[in-house]
Amino acid sequence: MRQPLVAGNWKMNGSLESIKGLVTGIKDGIGGIKRAEVAVCPPFVYLGVVGPMLERTGIALGAQNVSKEDPGAYTGEVAAPMLKDFGCKYVIVGHSERRTLYGETDSLVAEKFVRAQKEGLVPILCVGELLEEREAGQTEAVVARQLDAVVNLAGIGALASSVIAYEPVWAIGTGKTATPEQAQDVHAFIRGRVVGQDAQVAEGLRIQYGGSMNAGNAAELLAMPDIDGGLIGGASLKPNDFLAICGAAG
Ligand code: PEP
Repeated sequence: MRQPLVAGNWKMNGSLESIKGLVTGIKDGIGGIKRAEVAVCPPFVYLGVVGPMLERTGIALGAQNVSKEDPGAYTGEVAAPMLKDFGCKYVIVGHSERRTLYGETDSLVAEKFVRAQKEGLVPILCVGELLEEREAGQTEAVVARQLDAVVNLAGIGALASSVIAYEPVWAIGTGKTATPEQAQDVHAFIRGRVVGQDAQVAEGLRIQYGGSMNAGNAAELLAMPDIDGGLIGGASLKPNDFLAICGAAG
């Protein structure tokens, strides 16, 4: 039985004040709901504020990105041991905004995945197709390429201590959600591709959906057999909406 994971990706949002308010709002409401595993991924500079606030809440801390390098002369980068230092359990790698806006390639994402795991962090590997790729019937090919880049470098066994997030790029921040059937098809494809190499890893692998998931559509998406939680952007900035999604996953 896979425990769903709902993770909030706060992206480059918030201020010291608003982040504290957001964490307080989530903490205040989380006790009352039967829920999935929950994580929040603040901007790097707020990890040291959010981490201590999450103590004894059962809510995990995650980061949004990580360097593939060991600590050293890499101005502006953040190394995996630093994330560990601040109590991170998870780190998002290969988010579509990193791939499209910052030119992160499949091979760089795979290196980040491996570096994160070496430190004991659990990578949340984002995969997903652009609208034009979906319209050209290339969804499965794109997702397979992104997944294979990681499997080829890390080995299929490495997926056992990771999470995959299927995030169709056309659904991220657009308010246009994949239908439960569209999402389920791709989730089943991903699991099927892993089954072909290691059935046990495939069975335990958590595959989140991400892309305009909100309090109103979460339940029907999460009811699909291969959807094991959500990676939530916009709705994770509103405590009540985020809590409703956490509850729907529980
Ligand atoms: C995301 O950025 O991972 C995401 C899913 O964003 P949103 O929920 O805003 O579409």
